[in-house]
Amino acid sequence: MNNMFCFQCEQTAHGKGCTVQGVCGKKADTANLQDELTSSLIELANCAENNAENTELLINGLFTTITNVNFDNESIKELTERVRKNISCNSSFDINTVWNCDEDIRSLKSLILFGLKGMAAYAYHARVLGYINKQIDDFFYEALQSLSKNLTADEFLSLVLKTGEINLKCMELLDKANTETYGNPIPTKVSTNIEKGPFIIVTGHDLKDLEQLLEQTKDKGINIYTHGEMLPCHAYPELKKYSHLKGNFGTAWQNQQKEFDNVPGAILFTTNCIMPVKDSYKDRVFTTSVVEYPEMVHIDENKDFTPVINKALELGGYKEDKKMTGINGGDILTVGFAHNTVLSVADKVIESVKSGALKHIFLVGGCDGARPGRNYYTEFVKKTPKDTLVLTLACGKYRFNDMDLGEINGIPRLLDMGQCNDAYSAIKVASELAKAFNCSVNELPLSLVLSWYEQKAVCILLTLLYLGIENIRLGPTLPAFVSPNVLNILVEKFKIKPITTPDRDLKEILS
Ligand code: SF4
Ligand code: SF4
Repeated sequence: MNNMFCFQCEQTAHGKGCTVQGVCGKKADTANLQDELTSSLIELANCAENNAENTELLINGLFTTITNVNFDNESIKELTERVRKNISCNSSFDINTVWNCDEDIRSLKSLILFGLKGMAAYAYHARVLGYINKQIDDFFYEALQSLSKNLTADEFLSLVLKTGEINLKCMELLDKANTETYGNPIPTKVSTNIEKGPFIIVTGHDLKDLEQLLEQTKDKGINIYTHGEMLPCHAYPELKKYSHLKGNFGTAWQNQQKEFDNVPGAILFTTNCIMPVKDSYKDRVFTTSVVEYPEMVHIDENKDFTPVINKALELGGYKEDKKMTGINGGDILTVGFAHNTVLSVADKVIESVKSGALKHIFLVGGCDGARPGRNYYTEFVKKTPKDTLVLTLACGKYRFNDMDLGEINGIPRLLDMGQCNDAYSAIKVASELAKAFNCSVNELPLSLVLSWYEQKAVCILLTLLYLGIENIRLGPTLPAFVSPNVLNILVEKFKIKPITTPDRDLKEILS
């Protein structure tokens, strides 16, 4: 008998669904409480006024149910109660009706729901910086309402693509929020080494949390290190101006249990991806925003980071400078190649393509994860010919971002565009290049080789499909929630394909 059902991420059990306990560590009771929260959010969308308070509940609720965000039953129950209080008419919906319906409809509804969860995370980060867009907010209601309706497969398919369309607007809004608040990212070299003395590691995605922590620690003799998806923060002028923002700690999220083992510093999780916390560092983990984990100290919306600061001072850090490296042994990571920087050298790129010095551009990006098949991406990048560029973003880049791939006409061959939401930068660059070459994005010498793990990757994929981008290679496995019929549509309409081997895929792309 199933105790739970969840198949929203790439590591789902047996490629089908987690039914006893999540591979991510989520227990059945937590999964079921998240389902109750999701059901209540759909009821709220159906039966409440579209206003700021309810929109925030929808966004926070969806974000809370993303993989590796919230493992804390009490906070999920409390949020569900707040949602229920605002439901103003008789409405009853159970998300299990989606999990148990016809597999194609389930697949299409899942694409909408999981895409919406990812988009909620991006909307959340834009919102904390004061950036709100009515069309985006309204779509949360429309899309959630659709999950309780009996629409046709075609109607759901068009909503799937609309999710991608609205997510593009949402990523654009977040880009505007980040760059207007913190400046346009500029190329910056980041060390992976840790200096002696007290330090705090900040992980997740939230720039404002990092800024507030930097302010609160600037005269405390504490160094700050980014981790995971926070790495691109080093490139923002208004964040890099803090001299105690020293470098980046460790590699991608799935290595945290090993890398945080007995670490003599405090760790602040601003968003996903938190993994079950081990005894050897549980006294130094702090959460904030929608992230919560049982027994860990949660920093509330007042953002007083004193407990994190005191813990860092108490632990004292390493006694001597500590050398750490990326997974290929490199200790310098270069970030800051968002659209503004890349487009400032667009002339050089165009000239290099025309002269034949640059033959192809790869976008190798997306999530990292624990599956062994993910070394495909390291091998793929290692094998890209010297006359090609590699654009990258999100945490999958930790598979290769410590390698020096050299340059083409002064342009580094490996260009880190930022976090997963900065897929917007890649889209902007691709569409500007297409304009310059007077062709469509699909006609550019550009190939997308993507990795996915959780729901933010789903909304980005839907945006790429909405834009009509073809021939995307996706791995390490295809989503369990995509039914064979829906997969056929994606293959026929968008020529989406699974990754095979680096050699085979490279040969096929370059031929
Ligand atoms: S989030 Fe992923 S690993 Fe966790 S329960 Fe759901 S499918 Fe399983
Ligand atoms: S890229 Fe994906 S897996 Fe990695 S931290 Fe961002 S959302 Fe999570």
